[in-house]
Amino acid sequence: MHQMTLAEIARGLADKKFSSEELTKVLLARITQLDPQLNSFISLTEDLAVEQAKAADARRANGESSALLGAPIAHKDLFCTQGIRTSCGSRMLDNFKAPYDATVVAKLAAAGAVTLGKTNMDEFAMGSANESSWYGAVKNPWNLEHVPGGSSGGSAAAVAARLLPAATATDTGGSIRQPAAFTNLTGLKPTYGRVSRWGMIAYASSLDQGGPLARTAEDCAILLQGMAGFDPNDSTSIDEPVPDYSASLGESLQGLRIGVPKEYFSAGLDPRIAELIQNSIQQLQKLGAVIKEISLPNMQHAIPAYYVIAPAEASSNLSRFDGVRFGHRCENPENLIDLYKRSRGEGFGAEVQRRIMVGAYALSAGYYDAYYLKAQKIRRLVKNDFMAAFNEVDIILGPTTPNPAWKLGAKNSDPVAAYLEDVYTITANLAGLPGLSMPAGFVDGLPVGVQLLAPYFQEGRLLNVAHQYQLNTDWHTRTPTGF
Ligand code: GLN
Repeated sequence: MHQMTLAEIARGLADKKFSSEELTKVLLARITQLDPQLNSFISLTEDLAVEQAKAADARRANGESSALLGAPIAHKDLFCTQGIRTSCGSRMLDNFKAPYDATVVAKLAAAGAVTLGKTNMDEFAMGSANESSWYGAVKNPWNLEHVPGGSSGGSAAAVAARLLPAATATDTGGSIRQPAAFTNLTGLKPTYGRVSRWGMIAYASSLDQGGPLARTAEDCAILLQGMAGFDPNDSTSIDEPVPDYSASLGESLQGLRIGVPKEYFSAGLDPRIAELIQNSIQQLQKLGAVIKEISLPNMQHAIPAYYVIAPAEASSNLSRFDGVRFGHRCENPENLIDLYKRSRGEGFGAEVQRRIMVGAYALSAGYYDAYYLKAQKIRRLVKNDFMAAFNEVDIILGPTTPNPAWKLGAKNSDPVAAYLEDVYTITANLAGLPGLSMPAGFVDGLPVGVQLLAPYFQEGRLLNVAHQYQLNTDWHTRTPTGF
């Protein structure tokens, strides 16, 4: 039962092969049994899940049907859930029970999805390995000695290990696509503004975007359908109609123009990954796509620009966690300054503190022009590169990551080494474009992802290309041993 995708679950529920309550109980038992190996959940919400499952079964009995009605999912633990701890992977918010549901949580609940729990993540979504969580590292089900990627590592490990079919995640610089690549999943970062950020605890507001992590493009379409849409509570939410994503999955790739940036195949890319990317290109050519070499000349500047802009926004966003309005408060403060210093010093881990300091520095009066303003100018150049490329091609294709999942602890002493692994993902966030990662093979038993990027609001095109690829390949069906 735990092997089923969201699409298969929807069919099974519609055909009355099982109830949502039965399925929910099977998955909750599986999580209890297997998650101690992975640490992918921070909180389990068994009572809520059974209650939501019963309600979904009742709605189906009354003749309602929709793909998400009764479908078990989990939320990354930065989506606020009313009355349930929303920790953001931080000691700072270990005691925080949100007074309201994030828009994404409310929309999925209204569609009938069943919340099994809240998934582990890098603290405040800062990281690429899920090792900065206050609740401990998450393990990769493909090899328990390796990281699952981050920051949505809990959602990724849980879905990859078949503890549940799909989960929500967020992507500020790659945190949906990179863990998808590291765990053999399909993950989609939507266009900035497509999914509401209301109730999603902010890391870098101009880059953050929620999206689905699942095993197939077909399931990403189903989950995105429940997440996307205009929200007056989010001033950057875009008031555009949401297309029927599942309906976009039937299109032929004949004549589809795929751009492959020459900068992607630079020295930093593992040659074994380069080979798998070439194989995926050949596969798509067989399906009718036309390949064209393109150039993204400013890509080399994207990592330094991102690691100024994201910490700058984080330093501002995280100022609200002061031990007074929100979050952890130190014992017996001597005075107000002592309260702030110790509450923040105890509540935030090392990576979060590092980024707050970098961001505050980049925004300070003497350095603003040299760092922050310069980074914003690079951001525009990165966007211009994409706009020029999309005049010539329909999709851009390349690797999601330069290397497969590294060993736990391997990059702990060198944060910049981890930052460099984001080279292929962060440009889409800087430009606000949609991007998808899908399984493309294995290196040393560890999964490899291929990334597809599309023009604004072309999530349907990304999902269709991935779906056509998945109809003709079986990488995405591989299951990690032991799960
Ligand atoms: N690895 C990137 C960072 O650490 C991206 C994280 C994310 O997308 N949330 O900032």
